[in-house]
Amino acid sequence: MPFSKLGLEKNIVSSLQKQGYKKPTPIQEKVIPLVFQNKDIMAMAQTGSGKSASFILPILQLWSKNKGQGKAKIKVLVLTPTRELTLQVADFFTTFGENLPSKPKVVSIIGGEGIGDQLYAIQQGCDILVATSGRFLDVLSKKQMNLSHIEYLVLDEADKMLNLGFAEELDLILESIPKERQNLLFSATYPQKILDIASKITSNPIEVKVEEEIVVETIKQRVIEVNRENRGPLLRKLLEIHKWDLVLVFMANKRATDNIAAKFRKYGIESASFNGDLEQELRIETLNAFKQRKIKILFATDIAARGLDINDIDCVINYDLPRSPADYIHRIGRTARAGKSGEAISFISHEEQEHFKLIEKRSNIKLQREQIEGFELIGDAPKKVKGSAPVKGKGKSKKDKLREKKALAEANS
Ligand code: AMP
Repeated sequence: MPFSKLGLEKNIVSSLQKQGYKKPTPIQEKVIPLVFQNKDIMAMAQTGSGKSASFILPILQLWSKNKGQGKAKIKVLVLTPTRELTLQVADFFTTFGENLPSKPKVVSIIGGEGIGDQLYAIQQGCDILVATSGRFLDVLSKKQMNLSHIEYLVLDEADKMLNLGFAEELDLILESIPKERQNLLFSATYPQKILDIASKITSNPIEVKVEEEIVVETIKQRVIEVNRENRGPLLRKLLEIHKWDLVLVFMANKRATDNIAAKFRKYGIESASFNGDLEQELRIETLNAFKQRKIKILFATDIAARGLDINDIDCVINYDLPRSPADYIHRIGRTARAGKSGEAISFISHEEQEHFKLIEKRSNIKLQREQIEGFELIGDAPKKVKGSAPVKGKGKSKKDKLREKKALAEANS
């Protein structure tokens, strides 16, 4: 479907073409017409889905039509969790507003810069204000902003704003803007806290959900056979050979991610773990460090399999196989993003052969098995003979079984 079918007019469509956007993404197809219908929206969208343009484009068009004469007035308020996203969204507004008969004045306010300058920029004339929520409150407390003309409130990546005091901060913000307005909420996940926030800010919102699109064709998938105890040394070898910049390694349980990250750090490799035990703030910090390449290898559980959008992940490694074929696709989809190519490597030992065959069958793929010199798979698959006494080194010891049971329980928790 072309952009023009969604109700976007020529001047916006032409800036889209200039930016190389050929057709709308699924979230854009759904959200853009709803914004034109003045609906409140609760969209479940991941970073990388094109969600920002899905609100920026129609809002720009609506703003342009209804701009009126005279001095700029803040009509659009977009709150985001991070400085990077704030600057990116503000940039998009500027870029796509370029061909409008009158260009909008876009101001971004983020922490780490002088409040005075930011207030001055707002007072000089601002149509569209994009801000991190924390800094917005600081500026708000100066009581020198006129927010009485706001018509659109957007919360982008709302689930990342869930720091301790956000609900109260939001109350303060809602008190200072008009009640009559259009509200657009974007979040990758919808935990109860976000649902509470949604019920506070939106009225009869339309819920929009799109499945994440993963382009498997650009991912080079490999399978390396290796004994389980050799996976760590093999991983180090691969890092040495390939000199990847960013690598995401999936593991079955939380504790293992912590342990191996600590071990790799001892080897002088910048590593961190990423799992469900991390506090939200630490999660954001870890991801930012990874994006900025301060961390080269992230050892993660499946929590990182969906929605994580970090461009330039060179390789995804399945240190442990995922449980389902769907998880396999989501995991490998963390690489080869934004039109780039990437690699996905699965380690399999004797025990995983059958499981991986099932993943292949369900995903409609057939991959060649490789072995790396010095790390060849040795031994036979443990035989499953009922009632036979365990053979040392082949079968699983009681301790192993207990360990596995524990790992499974942790992975399921
Ligand atoms: P977002 O999910 O909004 O963070 O967008 C992810 C990236 O996709 C951004 O770099 C956008 O420039 C890009 N993008 C968004 N919409 C489109 C589109 N329709 N065609 C091509 N690229 C897009």
